[in-house]
This record gives sequence, C-alpha cells and structure tokens, in this order.
Amino acid sequence: MQTGGGYFSKKCSIWMQRHMGESPALLTTSGSHALDMAARLSGAGPGDEVILPSYTFPSTANAFVGCGATPVFIDVRPDTMNLDETLIEQAITPKTKAIVPVHYAGVACEMDTILEIAGHRGLAVVEDAAQALMASYKGRPLGSLSDYGCFSFHETKNFSMGEGGALIVHGDDANEKAEILREKGTDRSKFFRGQIDKYSWIDYGSSYVPADMLAAYLWSQLEFADEIIADRMSSWQRYMDGLSDLGQETGKGLVELPQIPPGCAHNAHMFYLKTRDLEERTCLIAHLAQNGISAPYHYVPLHSSAAGRKYGVFRGEDRYTTKDSERLLRLPMYYGLSEEDALFVIGKIRAFYHV
Ligand SMILES: *Cc1c(COP(=O)(O)O)cnc(C)c1O
Repeated sequence: MQTGGGYFSKKCSIWMQRHMGESPALLTTSGSHALDMAARLSGAGPGDEVILPSYTFPSTANAFVGCGATPVFIDVRPDTMNLDETLIEQAITPKTKAIVPVHYAGVACEMDTILEIAGHRGLAVVEDAAQALMASYKGRPLGSLSDYGCFSFHETKNFSMGEGGALIVHGDDANEKAEILREKGTDRSKFFRGQIDKYSWIDYGSSYVPADMLAAYLWSQLEFADEIIADRMSSWQRYMDGLSDLGQETGKGLVELPQIPPGCAHNAHMFYLKTRDLEERTCLIAHLAQNGISAPYHYVPLHSSAAGRKYGVFRGEDRYTTKDSERLLRLPMYYGLSEEDALFVIGKIRAFYHV
C-alpha cells in the first residue's frame, strides 16, 4: 500500500487504487508532475519521439521535453477532440518511444487501437487522464488502461486539492521506481513502511509528494465522488436537452454538440459547443459575457505556440486541430450549478441564434 505522507494521503491513494482496478496510485504535487514522472519512467530521452495531440495543455508536451524527447503532434478527431488513432501509425518512426493519448473532457480515446499499435511496436503508452477521473472506456477506468495514468486535482478539475495529482502504475517494480522518483530519489517510502532500517539516495528523483493537508481537502470530495459526478452529469444533460435541437445530428445544424462514442462513459468534466467559425465564436462569447456568463475557449494548438515550434513538430495534415480549436467554447460547468443558472445559459445561447 502507498504511504505517501499521512493519514489522508493514504485514504486518497487507497481510494484511487480501488477505482483503478487495484493498480498502485501515488498522489503527486500536480497533474503536470504526474506527467513528468510518467515521462521519465517511460524511458523517453534525447533523440526519442513521442506522439501526442497538439490540442492539449502544455504539460502533456513539457513532460517529455523535460526528458529531452521531441513531441510529435498529430491531428485530432473532430467528434471528441482526442488524438486520431488512425493517424498514429504513419507518425511512427524508429525513434518513436511512446504514445500519449489525452482523454479530452473526460471522454476516452480509442484505447483498444492505441494499445494494439503500442503493443505491436513495443511503445510505452502514457494516458493524460488529467480530466478523466471516474470516466471509463468499455467499462474500464481511464488512467488504468496503459503503462502510466496521470490525473490532476487542480482546482479546475472535477475533484480538487488546490494543486495536486496522481500517478497510476502497474506492478511492484514500476511502483518502487515511481516511489523513489517521487521521494527525492530515495527509498524513504520503504523506510516508512518499516521494510528497511534507513534510507539513502538510490536514483534520480525530485519532490513530488503532496502535503497531507491538501489530501484531507481532496478526501472530503472523494468520499462523495458519486454524488459529485451525478450532479455534474445532470447539468451536462440539462445543457444537452436544452440545446439538442440546435445541433448537427438532431436539429438545425447551428452548432456542434459534444459527442460521446459508444463504449465511453464520461464524467461531465466539460460541456463545449462548436460554432460555425472563429468569428461566430467571438460574437457568441461576447454575447454571453454581456449577460454575465463566462464561456471561455480552450487550448491554442501547441504546434502553433512558441514552445511548440521550438521543441516539437506536427506530423501529417492539420485538418481539424486548428480549425476546430477556433470554433470551440466551454459553458459554465461546476458542482452545484443550479438548474436555474443552466437554463439561463441555454436561454441566452438560444437568443443568440434566434431560436
Ligand atoms: C489540468 C491538465 C493538466 C495539468 O494538471 P495540473 O494539475 O494543473 O498540473 C495536464 N493535462 C491536461 C489535459 C489537463 O487538463
């Protein structure tokens, strides 16, 4: 069992472990740090390439840049904004070391295909499940499906400890390596479990163990995880019901609504819309802002950012990453969002489209 500090840290990591099919779970100081640890544990280093979507948070790429590896960005699928699994094989070279699927909005990437490609080629898979706690793929929990699963408990996520995260590993060997990396390169975790008399410097490491008082704050939410998810799901469904006749498939085709592929159970991390184009999005965001509604857009594709150009490369055609990132905006979504407020947001969007 993980020690990772005190009483509440233990409670949180046992809870995580139980929700991850009994794979070891180590609390970390952030989701970014969980990714940093996973990147290093994956063995990625100078000269290696790592395949990931361009449409993600910088931490996904930073983790591997920090190891000296090169991020190779590929296009996303327009239905989920997740990396397009059909484009992975053509991005693989002899230098490829790992594939990093990001489960955007808590909706699963096509993991069977990704794991099959990785298995075939001997590549590591690191899931950026920062947004995906309590979401699943074909009944299996996201973050537990690959070599390393990385979660975030940042204040913007479904469950928060202010700043924090978790790393999921598989097997005793990986667990021991992760513990050493997390504990300043020492075997202090073993020492605390009474398995050794004194601890020493074993390997490279840093300080990725969060304070127990932050774990106490997280524990107060994990205890009510089902209720928190149910509350968010009802807000998500309320938006869907109130806007579905504006959507592509079911209605007027004024906006695109989120799509949840079969086999994916999401966690209502986010509800987003896609407008026709950037200009319409700018107008809709301004219209909502005038009504006191904050509806931000999301990632600027990494390959077009300063660091992305410096450290990474986009491989293949950018059919959707740029175009769809310019059309996407997020509606207010948080625990305790009232029915009245959700209906107000729906009403203002409908007013914008005159329906
Ligand atoms: C939030 C997030 C991160 C970073 O997590 P932090 O806990 O803020 O460091 C990384 N990747 C994705 C996809 C995220 O949403």
